[in-house]
Amino acid sequence: MKKGEFNLRGMAVVSPLAREVHRRERSSCDVPNCRRSTCEQKPYCSEHIQFMPKVSSILAELQSRAAELELVERHPARATAESGHAQEILMRLEAAEGVTVERLASDARIYVAAVRAFIRALKRAKQVRTRKSTRGKTVVSLCR
Ligand SMILES: [Zn+2]
Repeated sequence: MKKGEFNLRGMAVVSPLAREVHRRERSSCDVPNCRRSTCEQKPYCSEHIQFMPKVSSILAELQSRAAELELVERHPARATAESGHAQEILMRLEAAEGVTVERLASDARIYVAAVRAFIRALKRAKQVRTRKSTRGKTVVSLCR
């Protein structure tokens, strides 16, 4: 037995370097009282991943989108051209010239009534225009 490897009680003494390596490989979650370990040096365990700054901003974004949609489904007049859904519709129209309301709704997975509300807001903001197709469908395109 080499001197310094064991303490007086016979327990292995871990060198500061070895302890540091261990800490980096298996750090524990930063949430107080959570004893789960994390992988790949992430600060939080899989149960507390919502505390990661990037994840929490995405969740906040999704929550505000969901809240916005709920509001517009109840009060269509409150749809705004600045909302995330309206901006998404504009992006969709950037990619294709003339898209039906039904198509926009199925692409965005939101109700046709909600799309109509956002389209009305975008029309008020003079960002889109609509026309009727020969089949009587409302076709939306960007105002260029
Ligand atoms: Zn945790």
